[in-house]
Amino acid sequence: MRIYELAKEIGVDSKELLGQIQDFGVEAKSHMSSVDDVTADHFRTSAASAGGTAVATAPDKEAPAMAPQAVVVEAKEETPAPASEQAADTALAEDKDPTGETQKSGDEDAPTGDDGSTLRFQGPIVVKELAARMNFKPNRLIADLMAMNVLASINERLDVKVAQNIARKHGFSLEYEKRSATMKPIVRKSLVESAEDDDQPEDLIHRPPIVTFLGHVDHGKTSLLDKIRNSSVASGESGGITQHIGASVVETNGQQITFLDTPGHEAFTAMRARGANLTDIAVIIIAADDGVMAQTEEAIQHAHAAEVTIMIAINKIDLPAANIDRVKQQLQGLDLAPEDWGGSTICAEVSAMTGDGVGHLLDMILLQSEVMELTANPTRRAQGYVIEAELQQGTGPTSSLLVTSGTLNVGDAVLCKPHWGRVRALTNDKGVKLKSAGPSTPVVCIGLCGVPEAGSEFQVYQNEKAARVEADSHLALLKQEKLAAPKRSTSIADVFESMKEDEKHVLKVILKADTQGSVEAIRESLLNIESDKISLDVILSGTGNITKNDINLASASAAIVVAFHVSQENGVGKAVKAHDVEIFMHSIIYELLDQVRDLMTGMLDPELRERVLGHAEVRQVFPISKTGKIAGCFVTDGRISSRMKIRVKRGDDVVYEGSMVQLKRFQNDASEVREGQECGIRLDNFANFDEGDILEVYEVDKVAQTL
Ligand code: GDP
Repeated sequence: MRIYELAKEIGVDSKELLGQIQDFGVEAKSHMSSVDDVTADHFRTSAASAGGTAVATAPDKEAPAMAPQAVVVEAKEETPAPASEQAADTALAEDKDPTGETQKSGDEDAPTGDDGSTLRFQGPIVVKELAARMNFKPNRLIADLMAMNVLASINERLDVKVAQNIARKHGFSLEYEKRSATMKPIVRKSLVESAEDDDQPEDLIHRPPIVTFLGHVDHGKTSLLDKIRNSSVASGESGGITQHIGASVVETNGQQITFLDTPGHEAFTAMRARGANLTDIAVIIIAADDGVMAQTEEAIQHAHAAEVTIMIAINKIDLPAANIDRVKQQLQGLDLAPEDWGGSTICAEVSAMTGDGVGHLLDMILLQSEVMELTANPTRRAQGYVIEAELQQGTGPTSSLLVTSGTLNVGDAVLCKPHWGRVRALTNDKGVKLKSAGPSTPVVCIGLCGVPEAGSEFQVYQNEKAARVEADSHLALLKQEKLAAPKRSTSIADVFESMKEDEKHVLKVILKADTQGSVEAIRESLLNIESDKISLDVILSGTGNITKNDINLASASAAIVVAFHVSQENGVGKAVKAHDVEIFMHSIIYELLDQVRDLMTGMLDPELRERVLGHAEVRQVFPISKTGKIAGCFVTDGRISSRMKIRVKRGDDVVYEGSMVQLKRFQNDASEVREGQECGIRLDNFANFDEGDILEVYEVDKVAQTL
């Protein structure tokens, strides 16, 4: 008997039972491992004698707490929105926070708001943020900083003075307001809550898994989803007719699973490219008579790129031509060996036609989600993503939202850039009106002032005014950037940036070529590029022209597209522009390989090498003002230049590192003083010289690394 089955029978968590069985001395790898009858009986008896769950106890009684079920209210009309939005605003504008202060607009981490050539910052000024606000590519700003002798990487914080200098150089003035420490918690509480890190462990509860079906066309994704939905409705648990709202919730054994309707991996990746990475588990559907096809492989590659958990459903087992073993063999060749073949991929055999195995598939999904320990905090203000949206006659804009954390309530103020509004009504996938919706719940929301884009993020704000001010400042920013829509960029600079954040140097590549032979040859050569500092990951390889879908995948996964002897399909140019994806087209293999090698070298952080240029000894110290002192020095070797970096050494200690504000030779300012000459040196923020101190001047060179 398998461990998860035993766990279900005696009503305990299968992970817990696995641990107990291992402690008992029985070898068991996972919840799918089998135990013999003696062991099973032992655990049955001890569970019963523990007074906990008798063998016959319904499993859901002991199931982990799930996200709160959406609260159902009577199906009466919600109070209509005030006829005049203005009136609503005026009323809401008076909202007070618990401190009694009238709310200020904007969220805590947002800039105070730029206005024309004035950039306003609160908190740290990070290179990439400053570049974005000045409408520059980050590497241009880095180059400018280097020209000012400031070495900074894209995620580094800048000194306020340096930031102000560089902003001035480009015609901006930069105003900096230090964030008040006492303000912080108040603002955080009263406006939007965003950082997941703030969740206290005691606030976290299990949430239903979010599942997507992917696979080759006609292998049964739609049929299987329909079968699952209908059997759930037929069992009377949900009590309504399934509405197509882009996702649905299915109940099985008292637990919920949320299914996203994605008509394939194209839509799945397109959502990801817009920033909505919602899926926890991708179930790859493979028809038992057809086996693994081109799009099955592509779907698997897309799921891998999304870093979601992959499960397999072998469908159409009712057909006489079904050959389950052949599918399993093919899966083994794709590094997805099924568990019963010694691998670790959960593989369920089903028929969407007869319903055979569907219950088992749902059990397997729940088991998998139990292992993943999916949690969310239902107590915070809701946030999540738009699954689909439309303008409906009579109701105005309606949006299907999937709550990922927090609880969304009727009456909440929502921002879904560039739209905002107040939730006037929430309806679930069974057409039932709700008062609130917790984590992993999809709902149709009425109340936004416009139709948002599928894949965009929504957040609940303290009040409607705060949401609107944020929406307005977003619109102003869009206008300023002359962008029609929010854009995620995947230029090489961004690929570089994403690697820095991860501290992992991996170049992700999508490879398209004319024949399977060239795909394999190029893939092999790419993977053979040797480097101990950076690795290359071909996240998708295939034959045929570059498609929009490839561009979405590149954008969603921060990858580049490398193409050999193929061209681009219609619409690709537009997608490339929208996402700023880099495509490298080649017709000569060694040129392609050279280019990838060059890209990899460019992605390595340049090595910083220090070059000492000279030393001077402090012979006498002259006070020049109340606090200022100038060191009278003798250059013992090399040269001293006023533009170089400098440190003060006292014996073995370094007592100062910084820069020079003045270098004098006799009475005059000098730019350089050579060995054997005397000079006067004044330092920035340091005057505590002692006679005998050694001043060392140096430069830092950036040296490109080799692979
Ligand atoms: P999708 O393109 O992956 O969404 O595939 P569909 O759900 O549209 O199914 C394609 C065809 O296969 C339809 O004609 C279905 O009726 C049929 N089909 C789906 N599942 C099964 C199954 O389990 N057994 C049989 N015999 N036919 C199935």
